Amino acid sequence: MFTVKTEKITSKLAMELEGKYGAHNYHPLPVVLSRGEGVYVWDVEGKKYFDFLSAYSAINQGHCHPRIVESLVKQANILTLTSRAFYSDTLGVYEKYITGYFGYDKVLPMNTGVEGVETALKLCRKWAYDKKGIPENDAKIIVCENNFHGRTITAISMSTDPEAKGGFGPYTPGFVIIPYNDLVALEKALEDDKIAGFLVEPIQGEAGVYVPDDGYISRAYEMCKARNVIFIADEVQTGIARTGKLLACDHENVRPDMLILGKAISGGVYPISVVLADNDIMMCIQPGQHGSTFGGNPIAAKVAITALEVVKDENLAQNAENMGVFFREQLKKIQSDLIEVIRGKGLLNAVVIRPKNGKTAWDICITMKDKGLLAKPTHNHIIRFAPPLVITEEQIREATEIIKESILSFN
Ligand code: PLP
Repeated sequence: MFTVKTEKITSKLAMELEGKYGAHNYHPLPVVLSRGEGVYVWDVEGKKYFDFLSAYSAINQGHCHPRIVESLVKQANILTLTSRAFYSDTLGVYEKYITGYFGYDKVLPMNTGVEGVETALKLCRKWAYDKKGIPENDAKIIVCENNFHGRTITAISMSTDPEAKGGFGPYTPGFVIIPYNDLVALEKALEDDKIAGFLVEPIQGEAGVYVPDDGYISRAYEMCKARNVIFIADEVQTGIARTGKLLACDHENVRPDMLILGKAISGGVYPISVVLADNDIMMCIQPGQHGSTFGGNPIAAKVAITALEVVKDENLAQNAENMGVFFREQLKKIQSDLIEVIRGKGLLNAVVIRPKNGKTAWDICITMKDKGLLAKPTHNHIIRFAPPLVITEEQIREATEIIKESILSFN
């Protein structure tokens, strides 16, 4: 019989095991985590850190939120998975809850963020043929430069990042790529009557927390409406209170025709994503045309309801707004020529680093780690700061002190 020898896992051993037996598709910061609670995580040697990444904004409610974990454990002891071959006593209740919560007719449940994106693209194409009258196989969807919508072949087909895209062709056709935050380019692209949808992140997270001009999202939405084009918001990273409102589109009072959510919809305890839309779009999909074995399973249903309740009960959107303003104020007090720009909304923030003496954002992240705060560079020169939304003013103060000391150590 094959057995696994249980050795005491040290940081060194854990990193060696991942290096030897795991694919090298990530380049993690050298820290090995074994426990989390609220805004903190601990490594296997017991050192405590502020988590300023929150698993790329999946942990908005804080690590191991007791109410969410309780829902998970309770349901895990009752019924975990039925598949959609049968009804369950949890799915309909969840569907009613989440559609009411976000104000849509219907939901299509999936698991990961990129599956949500794929689902939205399929729905958009189907709607284009069934409702808009675009000839079959001709539908096009507008996307933006520097987008990040995930890692599948179709998601990278929309990408302009050579690292994400290169070497994985041939690519899925049917996308028109325009610059982000450029309404003139959008207007021009919309002139093509084969355009079915416009897929956009209200703030580009992975690209480095690019916040578009005020009015971009609302004007883009109006332009899509004028052309009978579906406005699809990818709020996988910006949604669920991260930017100081429940949805980033709420900052401009835009209700997307299709809304994609993932990550924090489970508070980070389970892979859950959804697409929300009204009947006109959602009823274009018929049995057999889309699905997922795990999508909408009983654990996911229970976990998502509780995770969304926590967001409301703990006023996380308001806290993200208040703490975000406070955090940026604190960051702006740091006097260093390494800091090129500080930007963000709510608790989705970034500091753009000007490399100095060969030192980059990565070196700053290593120093912050040594001093007890975890963050990760994106695109070499940008550090994203996105702590759990349960963070307090005192904790922000303490964390900013670590960020300040780390940056100043390179002055
Ligand atoms: N869309 C956006 C905007 C994201 O930021 C991400 C992940 O970072 C995804 C989609 C993909 O989500 P997942 O990694 O769960 O597939």
